[in-house]
Amino acid sequence: MKDLRNLKKIELHRHLDGSVRLDTIIDLGKKYNINFGAGVDISDPHFKNKAQVLEPMNSLQEVLDCFWILQKSMVNYEAIKRVAFENIEDCFNDGIEQVELRFAPTFIAEGKKLSYEEIIEAVIDGVNKGLEKYPLEAGLIHIVPRALSLKDSEQATKEILRFKEGKGKDLIVGFDLADGEDFDQIDRYISVVEMAKKANLGVTVHSGENTSSSHIEKTINTLSPDRIGHGIKIWNDKKVMDLALKKNIHFEVCPTSNWLTRCVENIEDHPIKNMLEAGLNVGLNSDDPNLMNIDLTHEYHVCKERLGMNLDHFKLMNKNASLASFIPSKG
Ligand SMILES: [Zn+2]
Repeated sequence: MKDLRNLKKIELHRHLDGSVRLDTIIDLGKKYNINFGAGVDISDPHFKNKAQVLEPMNSLQEVLDCFWILQKSMVNYEAIKRVAFENIEDCFNDGIEQVELRFAPTFIAEGKKLSYEEIIEAVIDGVNKGLEKYPLEAGLIHIVPRALSLKDSEQATKEILRFKEGKGKDLIVGFDLADGEDFDQIDRYISVVEMAKKANLGVTVHSGENTSSSHIEKTINTLSPDRIGHGIKIWNDKKVMDLALKKNIHFEVCPTSNWLTRCVENIEDHPIKNMLEAGLNVGLNSDDPNLMNIDLTHEYHVCKERLGMNLDHFKLMNKNASLASFIPSKG
């Protein structure tokens, strides 16, 4: 099989604010004298174990602690711009020819004196700087995290839409709802999703990651997204699979992430191959690569070596991702 790093890949589910290089966290920590929290010391040789998820989690808190270390490193405009630039550089080195990077202004802003405007501008400037240097296509997805205030997210969404009318015109392409799902709370998000749709943003929703196929069904019926993030709990539920097939919903699947957060017990149990072979519209993604010390090429290796997938599967997943991309095609 062709070298998987050089295989031309498309990635639709990659969190920019969940992918800060370890060296960059340490560097920014030193430069800006960042306090990463009690007991977290960047000069500790075991800092890596605090800032990255390297083994299946023992508790959700462990993973959240890692996210907050990344979050704290994005301390100002310059730091965020650097992280955005390095995300593009990492994608290029991963053999990615088209990427959609997602980020949550409300998450990055939490606990800092940074406006959504500054954050969004830093991301756009960093991505554009990356695109000047590396020949790939990129788009940005705005995340509304369910775990943070909806009122703040509505404000951040308005700010994103303002940028879409201006300097983010060519980059801002999508909207995402992320974090843990609450079955009974989904109606709360109808208005913000409608706001995004009206502005011509594609809509994707994290659903059925560690929950159930009923969550996916409710997500599809309530929010009518174009794509579902993860969605692996759909496997074996014929009724919901038929619904997803009928609506041609694209699934952004991230095997190692699902293993590390214990959504699947063993990587060999992961349903990605079955989902694809059942005709579901599936693509392969890395989710939070630097947080998890992986990249997209690693995910292709996992699929090949642990799940028995081959080049035909890979071609099909990239074709699916290409058709489901929110980036307008040039042709
Ligand atoms: Zn995700």
